[in-house]
Amino acid sequence: MIYAGNFKTNHTRASTASYILALNSAIEGKKKDRVVIFPPISALDSFDISFTIGVQNAYPTQKGAFTGEIGVEQLDEFGIKTILIGHSERREILKETQDKVVEKFNFFKSLGFEIFYCIGEPLSVREMGEGKVKEYLLSQFDGIDIAYDKLIVAYEPIWAIGTGRSASVEDIRSIHQFLKSHIDKPLLYGGSVNPSNIGEIGSIDGVDGVLVGSASLKVESFLELMGSRDE
Ligand code: PEP
Repeated sequence: MIYAGNFKTNHTRASTASYILALNSAIEGKKKDRVVIFPPISALDSFDISFTIGVQNAYPTQKGAFTGEIGVEQLDEFGIKTILIGHSERREILKETQDKVVEKFNFFKSLGFEIFYCIGEPLSVREMGEGKVKEYLLSQFDGIDIAYDKLIVAYEPIWAIGTGRSASVEDIRSIHQFLKSHIDKPLLYGGSVNPSNIGEIGSIDGVDGVLVGSASLKVESFLELMGSRDE
């Protein structure tokens, strides 16, 4: 299993550092699972830990005149080689188009970054039925090299993100099976995953891991979530 935690715009530099050290001492030498944390940019640092720190976003540039953005020169300082691309909050709130997502994908792919690529349908598409959901999800791969060896896909239905309402086991199984028949890559589910539902979500065929927002914010909750999967 891959357990990825996305802090979004939560945690300070100080609270991230305490979290990361606590997580590291709790899991060091114990888990065979892969753990990746995406802290806010202001909290990036060089940590001596046994899991991966990734970045939630970056601009496709080494450096330059891109006010408010961060480029590879800033990521290199901390040895960051993992990036989240296509998260629905960037697509929906920050209006990142598929063209921009593809530009980022190609740029970070050319530098050998591991890419967590997010896809997911809004409620309006889900309400049109599963056929439309599948069509929509495939369109989010337009321009994306699905053969890239460092690609990890995260299916996150937008209506399940941060709402406390995860997709049903049947919906997840069906969409994951569908995606797996097109894309031979690790496939995570995301959307209101928590310590109570990880047991059933984590055991669905085709779920290789989870991308977790809210339930990753407290280290105790994230550890409980990882532990509950094993019970
Ligand atoms: C996310 O935004 O990637 C996410 C899955 O959030 P949450 O777990 O809060 O639904």
